[in-house]
Amino acid sequence: MSCEVVQKERNGVINPIFTCQPAGAQYASIGIKDCIGIVHGGQGCVMFVRLLFSQHFKDNFLLASSSVHEDGAVFGALDRVETAVDVLLMRYPDVKVVPIITTCSTEVIGDDVDGVVNKLNRGLLKDKYAGREVHLVPIHSPSFIGSQVSGYDVAVESFVSHFAKKDKPNGKLNLITGWVNPGDVKALKHLLAVMEVDATVLFEIESFDSPILPDKSGESHGSTTVEDLQGTANALGTIALNKYEGGKAAKYLENEFDIPAIIGPTPIGIRNTDLFLNNVKRLTGKSIPKSLVHERGVAIDALADLVHMFLADKKVAIYGHPDLVIGLAEFCIDLEMKPVLLLLGDDNTTYKNDPRIKQLQANVDFDMEIVLNADLMVLENRIKEKKLELDLILGHSKGRFVAIDNNVPMVRVGFPVYDRAGFYRHPVVGYEGAIWLAEEMANTLFTDMEYKRNKEWILNVW
Ligand code: SF4
Repeated sequence: MSCEVVQKERNGVINPIFTCQPAGAQYASIGIKDCIGIVHGGQGCVMFVRLLFSQHFKDNFLLASSSVHEDGAVFGALDRVETAVDVLLMRYPDVKVVPIITTCSTEVIGDDVDGVVNKLNRGLLKDKYAGREVHLVPIHSPSFIGSQVSGYDVAVESFVSHFAKKDKPNGKLNLITGWVNPGDVKALKHLLAVMEVDATVLFEIESFDSPILPDKSGESHGSTTVEDLQGTANALGTIALNKYEGGKAAKYLENEFDIPAIIGPTPIGIRNTDLFLNNVKRLTGKSIPKSLVHERGVAIDALADLVHMFLADKKVAIYGHPDLVIGLAEFCIDLEMKPVLLLLGDDNTTYKNDPRIKQLQANVDFDMEIVLNADLMVLENRIKEKKLELDLILGHSKGRFVAIDNNVPMVRVGFPVYDRAGFYRHPVVGYEGAIWLAEEMANTLFTDMEYKRNKEWILNVW
């Protein structure tokens, strides 16, 4: 019985689990109100990312490109940034925040984005847009390191460090949700509301589950305001739910403004939701009301109905964002399942030192493998070549063909999910998320039992 942490055996990536850093920066940007990011690079760096957002949320998001071409790649393309900022501000009179998000090409060229922001602040914004509130925020997200995960982390820190401003204490809690879904934000806000906690939910994307209104407007915008970001320096404390998606910003606020930071755990499952609520209590002094004890009880009852009969000993492979994968693995273990393969898909060399991974290594009583810098070909190879037997795969839609080709049932979780309806509406966090995840896993296994005629009669007598 062991838990081995290994690197992917080969160089190169086949069927990547993530896209690149600018995607993460773009996701953080669309969480801010009156904000349109300009991605400084080729048009594809925006087009494909917007497509992923649209596929996942079935909604439309505004992002711009400086649209660098051959001449810019050779001689530098800062003039494209100047033009892009001007056009964007003319076209969208309500825009206040414009992050300039770098890409692989413009970082390699060495375009001085910070310099051009200074130039625009002193020139264009003063001359042409005097009296208008505009914030230009450089975000460095070269795509030859990290992934969408680190891009999100870098962007969140860039925004927070740009805006945070010391003032009177505001008595609020900063909550950095990380890269989550609208259903998660709703569930988190519910927990905070029940505890009567006044929180600033940062990069708040609940509204991505957007309505179509009578005036036919259909664009989705995040709800975090400039004032929210400025106020982060005056909060009671910060909770970053995900270490790798917002942890840096929480640390920044602690180091710079003495705002106490608690990083993690991602509140997936009962034990991690309990910890989250206790952390909220610790920072705010608010008590956990009986109604949440009741909600917790309902969740435990729902899980107890499934664990021994259906979930115990089921072998699972999980891939996706590291905090999500670790949180799901911990939840699976609590459900007596066996997460035998975890795939973390970027070049972050610190994952192996993560205390949660160390704890898995110290405690698992079955064989588990954690592959770093992994891709979906690793999943495929483990099934086909190493004959890894799996009962279930947990991951986003990019792995659907591995599941289909190998006849392994799969629960969609993470980003992007485009081949199932409305998954962004369901939380995986909190007690509600624990129920949804466990029931989704059980129902997926039930369908598989039926189609494979595998003890499906049990469902008649359950
Ligand atoms: S890898 Fe580079 S070129 Fe490709 S989308 Fe990412 S930033 Fe753009």
